[in-house]
Amino acid sequence: MAEKRKNRPTRCLLIAISILSLAMLSCLPLPVPIEPSGVPSITAVLPGAATSTLTPINIPTRTIAPTIVPTGIPTDVPTDIPVPTVPPVPTDTPLPTARTALGVFTWAVIVDLDSEPVPREQAQELVNQASAILMELTGFSYAMVDFVEGNSPGAVADLAVTYIQDHAGSLPNGIIIFSYGDGDQARTYGGYAFTLAGPPGFRNTFNSPVVGNNRVYISVQHWSHRYAGCGYGSSMAEDVVQDTSFGGECRNRDGVACVERFGYSMCSDAVDDLYASSRTYFGSSVIIHETMHSFGYEGNMDHYGTETCNSRMSGGASARPYNPDTWDLAEFQYYNGMCPDVYDNFASSYQP
Ligand SMILES: [Zn+2]
Repeated sequence: MAEKRKNRPTRCLLIAISILSLAMLSCLPLPVPIEPSGVPSITAVLPGAATSTLTPINIPTRTIAPTIVPTGIPTDVPTDIPVPTVPPVPTDTPLPTARTALGVFTWAVIVDLDSEPVPREQAQELVNQASAILMELTGFSYAMVDFVEGNSPGAVADLAVTYIQDHAGSLPNGIIIFSYGDGDQARTYGGYAFTLAGPPGFRNTFNSPVVGNNRVYISVQHWSHRYAGCGYGSSMAEDVVQDTSFGGECRNRDGVACVERFGYSMCSDAVDDLYASSRTYFGSSVIIHETMHSFGYEGNMDHYGTETCNSRMSGGASARPYNPDTWDLAEFQYYNGMCPDVYDNFASSYQP
């Protein structure tokens, strides 16, 4: 997967701080399967009457193999046959314990009803998956602590502004808004992020070294965004036009065969990507990617594989695995398209 060199991402034309889909689609693709699913599917009704099948997320759990201690040895064993000896189970061996999060980053979820509906249970699943990914990278977890719906006749950010005013005494660390975004920006790119000031006296327990501790982290996200969509010609198109890629799809390669995946048409060479490991992995990754920008100092140059990132990592900015000489799709997706050291900034920002 090292077909691309690291300087490739510089051709990304990311708009403001955080257009993720460029990062994730055009210049990057990738990672580690969280878990394949042979699970019953959930059906979500998407706008335009299209029905999409979502695969529930399986949060990996650690399975502890039981210690089997024989309960008894048969008494009628012939005496000339040696009785197997069961090794004693040491009593001082500590039992493995489930990993405990170092801290919890809380989210309120707002569904913009002027865009597309998102069922609460599926929003919860997406946050759960994002939490599992974040836990793996930082030791911190996510929790959805509120779920509301509203209309956004004006700017999408107004939904968050109103929420902050109405919940001034019990604000979460961040707010996810499922919406097409202002000017369809989230629908076009997958998502974007910004921060809003909290009320006087508000102190976010994740004290970003970049934006300070009085901000609420906002992620605007296109719920039904397709990872590696194929045959549509545009992320905005609802219907498949042909059975091969065009219009910049499949990492800018026309003619790649399309296959059906998660109820939509996907580039056939992307189905084994980490981002395609479940219907919600990509969406979860978008949330993490976008909000991590608030913990990086250099905007688009905080993306995985940029010269700035290579330079920082070569200089010892983080002990996380990273090879500045190769651009690796799996590694890219493992880090959700962000330079690894940004996760260290996030983890060290926690001030409970
Ligand atoms: Zn970005």
